[in-house]
Amino acid sequence: MRTPAATIGVIGGGQLARMMHAASIGLGLRLRLLAEGPDVSAAQVVREVEVGDYTDPAVVAAFAAGCEVVTFDHEHVPTPILHDLEAAGVAVRPGPDALVHAQDKAVMRARLAALGVPCPANAVVADEAALVAFGDARGWPCIAKTSRGGYDGKGVWKLDGPQDAHVPFDGLAGLRANAVVIAEEFVDFTRELSVLVARRPGGQAVAYPVSETVQTGGVCTATTTPAPGLRPDQVRDLTAMAMRIADELGVVGILAVELMEASDGRVVVNELAMRPHNTGHWSIDGAVTSQFENHLRAVADLPLGSTAVLAPVSVMVNVLGGSRTDLLGGLADVMAADPALKVQLYGKDVVPGRKVGHVTALGDDVDETRARAWRAARHLIGDDDE
Ligand code: ADP
Repeated sequence: MRTPAATIGVIGGGQLARMMHAASIGLGLRLRLLAEGPDVSAAQVVREVEVGDYTDPAVVAAFAAGCEVVTFDHEHVPTPILHDLEAAGVAVRPGPDALVHAQDKAVMRARLAALGVPCPANAVVADEAALVAFGDARGWPCIAKTSRGGYDGKGVWKLDGPQDAHVPFDGLAGLRANAVVIAEEFVDFTRELSVLVARRPGGQAVAYPVSETVQTGGVCTATTTPAPGLRPDQVRDLTAMAMRIADELGVVGILAVELMEASDGRVVVNELAMRPHNTGHWSIDGAVTSQFENHLRAVADLPLGSTAVLAPVSVMVNVLGGSRTDLLGGLADVMAADPALKVQLYGKDVVPGRKVGHVTALGDDVDETRARAWRAARHLIGDDDE
């Protein structure tokens, strides 16, 4: 019987760390936080907070010295820092050699190709001429993206023709220095899907049902779980694929496999994330074990919890900053109107478009459950259409 890790260090103090903290309480695990500032989302609730720069090797090493295992709220900690931690005997979960596939899309694409996982046709392009050659060969429009440093659709460009070839190279200047441009076939997808897997160091793994996710302007706005309309064999194949990726890459913790479903039924991988993921927030209220609890169980090397659903359908809608700056102003109405609805607020200042919370509705009927969740989210931000 292995001893589970009791003190878990989390690097990054956003809402994911905040929701990990909530899960840690019941498990009796001690969570320590390396936060970007004293008032960020998770720093408001975790007792042991250090404020420091996660790109500073000395800061990260000093923080990790007090932890049995280190995990993440985001994927931005530089790989060399994590290798140093491992060399110093700290358990880093997910480890740097797995995490790099969530940090660098060129590394991810090359590895998935080697594994035979379906991806959009793609190539690293060194300059505008190479990008134009890719577009001419594969057809326009095409997608260009930065290999590193992109998030929420920033660092992804749709190019209509050769005249746009300068755009990603101009954009790269404002992003990471060690990034390259990847050209990708434009997938005219009908919807986006995601599969979440939790995996322990020894290889035990569990998968959540496939979710359908709505992205608006590059930001996840809503999910429906299980994704409506998938055939059982599709669910089986997508789940097996995600489990295999987690295993081959040696992921520990949550792996999210983001997918695009084309109109011809082809499903290709968009990208990988190795941390609790927005498309798994529904699991706090809609599954026996939330993704946050399973992430902690995995990194602490504890047996994983059941991912069984608690209702035929769970719909999560993000609360994105809107016209109402005082979210609590709408809370009472939402609670009174739908006592079965669950609300999570992240303690963040309301800035237009910023993720400041989410709501989850459980139900039997997809349309009805979606309507309930959207109504509540719109009311919270003050954007009801009356
Ligand atoms: P980020 O790292 O910013 O989340 P992604 O690689 O996930 O960037 O891309 C953001 C969005 O851009 C995706 O959710 C998808 O809607 C769109 N996208 C990315 N790659 C392609 C592609 N090859 N074809 C069509 N759309 C794409």
